[in-house]
Amino acid sequence: MDDAGKTTLKQNKRRRLVLFPVPLQGHINPMIQLAQILQVRGFDVSIIHTKYNSPNLSRYPQFIVHIIPDGLSETEVSTSDLTLFLKRLNTNCAGPFYDCLADLLSRDTDNPPIAIITDSIWDFTQAAANSFNLPRIVLRATSVCSFLVFAALPLLQEKGYLDNLDSKREELVVELPPLKVKDIPVFESSENTYQLIQQIVEETKKASGIIFNTFQELEEPELFKLQETYRVPTFSIGPFHKSFPARSSSLFTQDRSSISWLDAQAPKSVLYVSFGSLATMDQRQMNEVAWGLADSMQPFLWVVRPGLVRGSEWLEMLPNEFLAATRDRGYIVKWAPQQEVLSHPAIGGFWTHGGWNSILESIGEGVAMICSPMFGDQMVNSRYVSDVWRVGMKLEKGLERGEIESGIKKLMMGREAD
Ligand code: UDP
Repeated sequence: MDDAGKTTLKQNKRRRLVLFPVPLQGHINPMIQLAQILQVRGFDVSIIHTKYNSPNLSRYPQFIVHIIPDGLSETEVSTSDLTLFLKRLNTNCAGPFYDCLADLLSRDTDNPPIAIITDSIWDFTQAAANSFNLPRIVLRATSVCSFLVFAALPLLQEKGYLDNLDSKREELVVELPPLKVKDIPVFESSENTYQLIQQIVEETKKASGIIFNTFQELEEPELFKLQETYRVPTFSIGPFHKSFPARSSSLFTQDRSSISWLDAQAPKSVLYVSFGSLATMDQRQMNEVAWGLADSMQPFLWVVRPGLVRGSEWLEMLPNEFLAATRDRGYIVKWAPQQEVLSHPAIGGFWTHGGWNSILESIGEGVAMICSPMFGDQMVNSRYVSDVWRVGMKLEKGLERGEIESGIKKLMMGREAD
């Protein structure tokens, strides 16, 4: 081949990126969507994935997927302590990730990776990137507003916001309006969690760039503040689900009977209820949710994930009276095709836990929300839904049937409870 031919070949060659998702539903979805976006933009994509929650490879013929061991025990994967889980995941995966990347770089000399894109939760990946002299770009799977709050936690701690929280729950956080003290993400094992969050924030700041699954029109002031404060190039190129739905990366089987049920309902009449893939509640909270739904008298499609109620298999915790009272207007599934549900004409509102993907998917379909945040970034996202973006309301009393009933009536019928 002459020199001109070689040059053309080189120019046409696609460049390879290595993506590394955190193996949780709300993190896998945006990373796989990003992979699809990058692939149609001309990149070759390799994905390094833990064995835990590893994808069905047949769904991704366009990517090269490398599975690494994560060393997680049965007890560790079923723990309700998310901090412990993430710490263990980071500790266990550092070595296997490094080895896998080394292997990729040495084997694929013709088309070696030119950069890695890692979920921000992986706290060892900057060090790995540095040792191979590769740029590392971080994907933040949550909102910019919640990132700013996480980054401000040491300051909030120093200013005493986190002491005696119960006595000042309704007070404004003056440094971060319109956040109230009760919206600050607090965690059960707080010291460990704050350490982990700080580590993640510090490692994110070292990246060559941060990709946010958000868009300028939604979080412009927050993006501005982020760029002013951290000076890391940021790319707000979401919402990803508008380019590629999350169907292929669902870890649970999506029950399509929910769509046939919706087909038989009146336009904008149904409340869709889902608390995402991780949140759990106790029996008392479940009762409040159920009776709030029943008392609202509105049709609903409810995702009750097995394990949603701690210690339960599935629906055995639901009172029979509730099931009898709502038989004609309620439909319960274990997992739904959420994006399709939200775009269905029968949907009139979404009661959500405030997970970032759920919020983006709801905004994308123009569906107003009721938010019941459970932990972490959901607290901040929900405050923004109600007070900043004004695309829904936040239940201020936690899970309490009276507030749930009036919230649902207000959202679905535009009026308070009688
Ligand atoms: N999801 C789904 N079916 C369901 C409930 C959720 O496909 O029945 C998807 C939803 O579309 C979203 C993801 O699971 O993409 C949940 O992510 P989110 O950030 O909202 O919450 P998390 O599960 O991380 O708490």
